[in-house]
Amino acid sequence: MGTALASTDKQVTELLDRLHEKYPDTTISLRFSNRLELLIAVILSAQCTDERVNSVTADLFEKYDGPAAYAEADQDELATDINSITYYNNKASYIRDACQQLLEEHDGEVPDTMAELTDLSGVGRKTANVVLQHGHDVVEGVVVDTHVQRLTRRLDLTEKSNPEAIERELMDTIPENEWQQLTHLYISHGRAVCTARNPDCKDCVLEDICPSSKVDNERDLASGEPWS
Ligand code: SF4
Repeated sequence: MGTALASTDKQVTELLDRLHEKYPDTTISLRFSNRLELLIAVILSAQCTDERVNSVTADLFEKYDGPAAYAEADQDELATDINSITYYNNKASYIRDACQQLLEEHDGEVPDTMAELTDLSGVGRKTANVVLQHGHDVVEGVVVDTHVQRLTRRLDLTEKSNPEAIERELMDTIPENEWQQLTHLYISHGRAVCTARNPDCKDCVLEDICPSSKVDNERDLASGEPWS
């Protein structure tokens, strides 16, 4: 049918129930063994796949064993170590600067507040939310990446396109105890079924409650354009 349920609350409850059932164990797919590794992996993951980041960090985390090692690293050498990752020159520079800040302002530790994290070089609200959630068990917001952006719009839970505006709307409509898991559910569904270019609506557990479903809707609410 492809029609949203009558109220936003009902729509949210239903879609969360179905996605939890479909992806019961979904969680962060970046690999890390401490907060610094998490911070670096998340900085590297901007506009890059987690799979690619994991393949690079396997060696990177062996070579650099703490904030001083990154802060003192030669820019060209660090950039070469991560050169299969998008924007590797900028990211090498962010990592060196952020680690210098950790040493100078935080005794070499990764801080646990949004304000302190977003003060670090290369760290925006999305990165800070991931580090807070998975490094410190603090859930202060919703991580809005490209999948969360697309699915939230397709399911008509926002008309906004700015990630921070979408985050604010999700924080208003999604129960707080689901803020963290919503991201992982959407990422899993966005990778497996509701892909950017060719979503498999016929095989989607949300088809009957999705106002973008290609089965009987003409428009993709994520892009605002007709389905091709
Ligand atoms: S795959 Fe299709 S039906 Fe499912 S959420 Fe995406 S757009 Fe909606």
